[in-house]
Amino acid sequence: MNDFISAPRRRALLAAAGLCLSAALTPAYAAEPLKVVASFSILGDIVREVGGKDVSVSTLVGPDGDAHEYEPTPADARKLAGAQLLVVNGLDFEAWLPRLEKASGFAGRKVVASEGVTPRKFAGGGHDHGHDHDHDHDHDHDHDHDHDHDHDHDHDHDHDHGKGDADGDKGGHHHHHGDADPHAWQNLANGARYARNVAEGLAAADPAHADAYRQRALAYGARIEKLDATIRQTFAAIPAERRKVVTSHDAFGYFGDAYGVTFIAVAGVSTAAEPSAADVARIIEQVKRERVPAVFVENITSPRLVQQIARETGAKVGGTLYSDALSKPGQPGATYLEMFEWNARQLAAALQP
Ligand code: ZN
Repeated sequence: MNDFISAPRRRALLAAAGLCLSAALTPAYAAEPLKVVASFSILGDIVREVGGKDVSVSTLVGPDGDAHEYEPTPADARKLAGAQLLVVNGLDFEAWLPRLEKASGFAGRKVVASEGVTPRKFAGGGHDHGHDHDHDHDHDHDHDHDHDHDHDHDHDHDHDHGKGDADGDKGGHHHHHGDADPHAWQNLANGARYARNVAEGLAAADPAHADAYRQRALAYGARIEKLDATIRQTFAAIPAERRKVVTSHDAFGYFGDAYGVTFIAVAGVSTAAEPSAADVARIIEQVKRERVPAVFVENITSPRLVQQIARETGAKVGGTLYSDALSKPGQPGATYLEMFEWNARQLAAALQP
C-alpha cells in the first residue's frame, strides 16, 4: 500500500511540510494577508481601501443585498470561522450577526466601524409621515391589522406598547433597531470615521502593517473629504424648497442631515415593515402638497410603491439610489465613493429647478 505514495509524491509532501515549518518560523516573510470578513458590501470596500494588499476581504451581504433581512448561510459560517477580524457596522444594523458568530465559533477580533459617530435618532427630522409619535416606526401600527407580513409580526407588536419601548430591549425579535438609525455611512464624514476605525482595528490585529493601514486611511480620508466638499456645494446651489425626495426605505437620514435634503421614506428605517395603503396615501398627499420634485427607487428594495407614488403625483422617477449596498462591479455604485457620488448626482439632477 505504501507504494501508492510514490517517491516524487513523498518528496513533494516533505517539501510542503518543510514550507509550512519555515512559514511558521518566519512569519514576517511568509505572512499571508490578514483574513477579514465585513458584514456588508459597503464596509467590505472600506476595508479593501484601508487594508490594501495586506488584507484579504470577504463580505457576508454582497452587492445589491439587503442587510436588514439577511439570512446567513452555512458558507457564511465557514467564512467567519476562518477569519481573523470581523468588521461590522454596529448601531444594531446586523441583527442576524450574533447568531452567526455563535454558530461559526468565531473567536477573532471585532471592529465596530460606526464607533464614535453621532447616531441619528429616529425622532430626528427628514422623515415626516404626519405622525405624532416619536418613532419613525409608527406607521407599522397600521400593519398589525393586515396580517400579511409573517416576518413582521414581532416587530409590529413591539410598537403596540406605545412610547415606553425606547430602551430597545425586545428579546428575540430582530428587526428593531434600538434608538439609532444605523445608516451612518450615508454621511461622508461618518465614512471617514469608519475608515479610521477600520485602520485601528486592522492595526491591532496586524501590528506589523499598522503604519500602512493608518496611511491608507489618511489618504482615503482625504478623498472622502474632497467628495464631501463637492457634494455640499452641489446641494447648497439648489433652492432649499426643492431639496425634497421620496425614497423606498428610510436609509438617507444621515445624508439628508449632512447635505440639507429632506427624504420622505415610504417604509421605515428597516426594510422589514411594508407600509400600509394609508401610509402610501399619506405620502402621496404630502408629495402633492409640498411639490416634491422626484421619487427614487433603491437597489435593495422593490420599486413598486415608489413608482406608484410617481404615477399618482406626477413627480419624476429620479433613478436608482444605492442605499444599503454597493452595486455589482461594472455598475455605477461599485465602491463606497462611486456609490456616494452617483447618489448625489442623481439627486441633484432631479432636484435642479
Ligand atoms: Zn436600510
